[in-house]
Amino acid sequence: MRALQLNTVVLVVEIIGGIGANSFSLIMDGIHNVSDEVALVFLVLAYTFRAGLSGKLLRSANLFNSIGLLVICAPLVWRVVERLSHPIEVLGVVPIVAGLIGAIGNWGVARVLRESSKEDAAIRLAYVHNLGDTLVSLIPVAAGVLVFTSGSSIFDSLFALLIGAVIIITTLRAVIGSHRELLWPENVSCGHPRSEQSL
Ligand SMILES: [Zn+2]
Repeated sequence: MRALQLNTVVLVVEIIGGIGANSFSLIMDGIHNVSDEVALVFLVLAYTFRAGLSGKLLRSANLFNSIGLLVICAPLVWRVVERLSHPIEVLGVVPIVAGLIGAIGNWGVARVLRESSKEDAAIRLAYVHNLGDTLVSLIPVAAGVLVFTSGSSIFDSLFALLIGAVIIITTLRAVIGSHRELLWPENVSCGHPRSEQSL
């Protein structure tokens, strides 16, 4: 699937760039895209073995994926907070370039999903999610620009915290939402063309 390839490019560029340039804003966005990669793999699996993988299993997998993301994100946020008092030099150019690649990649993923998102609620969720991720990937770009122009790496840490906050809030909302769906399966619209009813 094209979406998976594009997302792989994004996470590899962001994580390697982030570690190389000491940029936590990039690493944070990269980790987020690792979690998106897992979600995309499950989405592809669900549609490859349509009969074999139930919607409930898909949602359970996504729930564990979300919890995994939170577990990885929390200590990362803590390290960024620690770094606020001990700033390390960040190469501002790297988050600018890698963040732009991330934004283009996420936008590409959304475009690939757009056509099928009209017929399927699970794909529509992924489509909307990746449109949002396009904006999130621009945060390291803004961080890089500020680091580059001001010479102060503190902006990278501040913007990493902003990304961390976005990840934690959106993931918690997804976890709470899917928990509700798992408890009350009749609420689930996944796989059903609910858009027709609402028209
Ligand atoms: Zn995402």
